Amino acid sequence: MKKRSQASAVLFAGRISAAVALIWVVGYAGPISGAESKKPNILFIFSDDHAYQAISAYGDPRHLVETPNLDRLAREGMRFDRCVVTNSICGPSRATVLTGKYSHRNGFYNNTNSVFDGAQTTFHKLLGAASYQTAVIGKWHLVSDPVGFDFWQILPGQGAYYNPPMIRNGERVATEGYATDIVTDLSVDWLKKRDRSRPFLLMCQHKAPHRSWEPALRHLAADGGRVYPEPATLFDDYSGRGAAERDQDMTIERTMGDGDLKLVPPKGMKPEQLEAWNAYYEPLNAAYREKRLSGKDLVRWRYQRYMHDYLACVRAVDESVGRLLQYLDDEGLADNTLVVYSADQGFFLGEHGWFDKRWIFEESLRAPLLVRWPGVVKPGGTCRELVSNVDFAETFLEAAGQPVPAEMQGRSLVPILRGETPSGWRKSFYYQYYEYPQPHHVRPHYGVVTDRYKLVKFYGAGEGDYTELFDLQRDPQEMRSVLNEPGYSEVHGELERELLKLRSELGVPDSVPAEAMGGKASGGKGLR
Ligand code: CA
Repeated sequence: MKKRSQASAVLFAGRISAAVALIWVVGYAGPISGAESKKPNILFIFSDDHAYQAISAYGDPRHLVETPNLDRLAREGMRFDRCVVTNSICGPSRATVLTGKYSHRNGFYNNTNSVFDGAQTTFHKLLGAASYQTAVIGKWHLVSDPVGFDFWQILPGQGAYYNPPMIRNGERVATEGYATDIVTDLSVDWLKKRDRSRPFLLMCQHKAPHRSWEPALRHLAADGGRVYPEPATLFDDYSGRGAAERDQDMTIERTMGDGDLKLVPPKGMKPEQLEAWNAYYEPLNAAYREKRLSGKDLVRWRYQRYMHDYLACVRAVDESVGRLLQYLDDEGLADNTLVVYSADQGFFLGEHGWFDKRWIFEESLRAPLLVRWPGVVKPGGTCRELVSNVDFAETFLEAAGQPVPAEMQGRSLVPILRGETPSGWRKSFYYQYYEYPQPHHVRPHYGVVTDRYKLVKFYGAGEGDYTELFDLQRDPQEMRSVLNEPGYSEVHGELERELLKLRSELGVPDSVPAEAMGGKASGGKGLR
């Protein structure tokens, strides 16, 4: 055991040779057999804005939706209950996943003016150099074209749900159908055509369930007209916190538009698709208009429509996971394939009256993370350690027996997957959000997160910087800053010191580069 932990410490430092790392990985997996000595395939299924509350394995008290295929992954693998992101927004999260670095190191701060520098070191390029065949299919959202994949077929920009145009290895191609199904079909096709003599990395990345939450036609009536329980904080008045929480532009009440609410149909549908769409929504919309709702009744109606649409999109993602797992089963690949399901961040499903993400608060900060790796991960385990999307690249590299470059800022999750959390695992995590003012007018902030506390500093909005402190044990819904309450001065001091330490360790510059905020100056209904 001692030898193993020494090997693991060296591996974290990224100084171990590929050969030694491979021996170490194989050594852990037990007796060497033909299958176990092979590098594992890696199937990374990544969705956009999928809240952990909308995966039944996470046990949200609202029981919003059944996700049997994602639940299968949790049952056969490990469910991570505190996977936090570095910067809770689409492009920056994707850049972090690829590089194993924070926004201030990979240069992708926001969705407005950041462009991913594809010349950087990324885990997929390192796997490609280590004999993996690599592909990314679906949502990309890093502005520049993918670099270093054997095959790529992406949705340009945010992508469309219906009949989405795509770009395949640089060439624009038309598609017909529903984006989640198309991305799954393409993923299975690529697997079928792959070089079977080499391991694969497939990044299957869905647009769903991103705004504006357009369900597949087969799922329009799938919930049987269910009335969804409301979150306790749907009518949050933001008292107990500062100006940032009040000034945002992401409420169900004020920010959702007619397209979000399906009061107008999406663009780009074929006539027969539109006909089926309207057959579902038009009678419901007519009944809604007749009621002339206002105030809380209107918010409640909007919340129900939002849940219907969002969760229907989740159903298609869950089916996609089921099809991919079935393919692995049918081909006998399941035993030697590391399957990871995650999303680029969390999402508010009406908590605090919000949709969207961006905040350091739990629903936004925490992404779902389910990992299955037969023979390595004990089925049905859960993990409450602070892990992050900044750890994914390092994890994939170690799983493939590759060294982790010193420039990467996370840590491989492989020891945790083996059930042996290193004694020095992180107890605090640094977070920073930049994009401002629009879309959604969420003030830039950074902070430190621990198992119990969050210290948050709002900065750079030209409207007065301030600090908040949240005690998740006493206030799990993060409704009240306790910064000035008696009894918290010691905790506050510790967290201030921890914040400085983390900023120093991570090389966070004292001043934020001018382009980092990027946000549009006006508007507020942006699809970011
Ligand atoms: Ca996203």
